[in-house]
Amino acid sequence: MAYTIDLGGRVALVTGGTSGIGLATAAKLASAGARVVICGRNPERGRAALAEIGRDDLVSYARADVSDDEQVAALVGAVVQEHGRLDIAVNNAGNVETLDPSATSSVDVSPAYFDATIHTLMTSAWLCMRHEIPAMLAGGAGGAAIVNVSSMDAALLAAGTGSYSAAKLGLEALTVSTAKEFAARGVRINAIRPGAILTPMLERNLRGESPEERAGRVAAYEALISMRRLGAPAEVASVITWLCSDEASYVTGQVLNVDGAISL
Ligand code: NAP
Repeated sequence: MAYTIDLGGRVALVTGGTSGIGLATAAKLASAGARVVICGRNPERGRAALAEIGRDDLVSYARADVSDDEQVAALVGAVVQEHGRLDIAVNNAGNVETLDPSATSSVDVSPAYFDATIHTLMTSAWLCMRHEIPAMLAGGAGGAAIVNVSSMDAALLAAGTGSYSAAKLGLEALTVSTAKEFAARGVRINAIRPGAILTPMLERNLRGESPEERAGRVAAYEALISMRRLGAPAEVASVITWLCSDEASYVTGQVLNVDGAISL
């Protein structure tokens, strides 16, 4: 029999599912048969994502800002109300809109900026788990799985990435600790660390004044990556989908690099 990942009958929530890694993950989960709700703050982006995925029978959009506890509670409640259960959650939403490119060090940012980064990239995923896990347990938690999207920055801890790295490393701590708390109750929780993945977020970082400037930035990334290329969102989505499936039924509390082997 062919090896397949079968998520038929499962209900999944993908935060930040309207772009990049989240969008590719939503498409992959749906291709495995899951019903998927994607969320983001911008409904226009939501509509475009649904059109790109092209599986209106399985994928729907809900507007929510996952940095707000009430909105997360309403989002998870709406998923359960519409689909009757929640089996899979991919806590992927993240943005670097507030990153200050002029900051020269981790202490050269305002307290408001620092708090916003930690809140958006770490607290949001905690808020999500706070509502997702009870919903999963209420549904029986047979094969429930959560994947939190961290970053290789949490491992590299490079100069100039202080608050982003701290947020992602904190997210990994929450992942492993919470995984141990719910392992015996049927909820697996893992994190992944994408490396440099060509999404709209990375594209904004690569953009330069000229094509040559962009090419230079891509080359600088590639020089650090053992596979000598950037990753594609679908390559991360495949790993997330596997972690969400019963094919990874004995894997919990892990942090997995998906980075083409970056070394500094
Ligand atoms: P992206 O293309 O910019 O997509 C980000 C998604 O998150 C969008 O759907 C965005 O939609 C949503 N979002 C942002 N803030 C939100 C909020 N407060 N509430 C709800 N949705 C929100 O980014 P990406 O590159 O795919 O990144 C996805 C995740 O991977 C992030 O956690 C990022 O830190 C991590 N990551 C990315 C890379 C990389 O190289 N790309 C590397 C390591 C880690 P709206 O703007 O409409 O809300």
